Amino acid sequence: MDLLNTLVEKGLRRETPTREEALAVLATSDDEVLDVVAAAGKVRRAWFGRRVKLNYLVNLKSGLCPEDCSYCSQRLGSKSEILKYTWLKPEQAAAAAGAGVAGGAKRVCLVASGRGPTDRDVERVSQTIAAIKEEHQDVEICACLGLLSQGQAERLKDAGANAYNHNLNTSEATYGDITTTHTYADRVSTVQQAQAAGMSACSGLIAGMGESDADLVDVVFSLRELDPDSVPVNFLIPIEGTPLAGDWNLTPQRCLRILAMVRFVCPDVEVRLAGGREIHLRSLQPLALHLANSIFLGDYLTTEGQAGKDDLAMIADAGFEVEGADTTTLPAHRADAAAAAGAGCGGHGGEGGGCGPCGDAAPADAVPAQATAAAPGAGPVASERSHADLVAVRRRGAGTDLPPNA
Ligand code: SF4
Repeated sequence: MDLLNTLVEKGLRRETPTREEALAVLATSDDEVLDVVAAAGKVRRAWFGRRVKLNYLVNLKSGLCPEDCSYCSQRLGSKSEILKYTWLKPEQAAAAAGAGVAGGAKRVCLVASGRGPTDRDVERVSQTIAAIKEEHQDVEICACLGLLSQGQAERLKDAGANAYNHNLNTSEATYGDITTTHTYADRVSTVQQAQAAGMSACSGLIAGMGESDADLVDVVFSLRELDPDSVPVNFLIPIEGTPLAGDWNLTPQRCLRILAMVRFVCPDVEVRLAGGREIHLRSLQPLALHLANSIFLGDYLTTEGQAGKDDLAMIADAGFEVEGADTTTLPAHRADAAAAAGAGCGGHGGEGGGCGPCGDAAPADAVPAQATAAAPGAGPVASERSHADLVAVRRRGAGTDLPPNA
């Protein structure tokens, strides 16, 4: 297919596809999905080989958030029967992080619910970072604490945080449909503050919230412009008790097309397969490793993932290898640039870590015919049935007496 050949060539040159090309990837048919995966897989392997980076989530503070993000089980007025607890002590968080590191995680993501941290919260997280680094000097720490106030990014960086996550989640045009208590611009600003402080920025999206193909392309192009080092791609986990509990809009094939589009638009960036992979990709999860070069190990913030040992077995069976602590994740040109800048993805943006931040909608007349036709891949597709039976609220690990899944 000419489209895929063109996108592979552009990806190898780090050249941005056009919006029309990105839309056309989302509009490919289920019959073409293996061709799409094979093409985007060439770009993935060119920049990241067969390595898979493992990340481990530690939910420092769960539930009771005053914000109203409609995808989130921790939101204001949530009826979800999730674990609710206040700040973990540094030693409790370090113990949970240690389980992830023992399971092969290279990065630990420290996430707390809430609009944003107080200065006292930043101090607590600083103590937690110190406790983790005392035991695991080489582990990367990413903080995901919501909207940052002046000076907080610098304090987190000084405390040893390597990265900060805040997801854009969806397009600027639809952001107000998802959340009313803060704005898209607030999210962009926090990512920029993290970058200005010299932290690696992590910012991604959540697919499956009823957005259009144009919205998905908008958010991914906005992310490319924001230029985070890592982009988590979450697939909505429709958790009972949230306004989006009935939104089962994704098929495994659509998830693969979305991941491929992200890879083509952000070829040399860490694309992380985040929350929702088990319940939406199901038996096609291993194909996603040809697109993403990073995943979360084990459980998510308020829901359970598959067993950590099954994550490791899947990676090995699919012919990939877990990235070691001695390997630099990003290609040399990006890693060098980050180092020169003093050196970005993440929990408040879905279950895969981060309150995360993208662009203007393509005009309708700019959409190619194949993107507007009723092709199997075009636009949100209602799956044949809900897979709510696959969603399990987290009952182990941080905030419980049971060992974490790692
Ligand atoms: S995503 Fe973050 S800010 Fe939004 S409701 Fe959930 S915890 Fe609160």
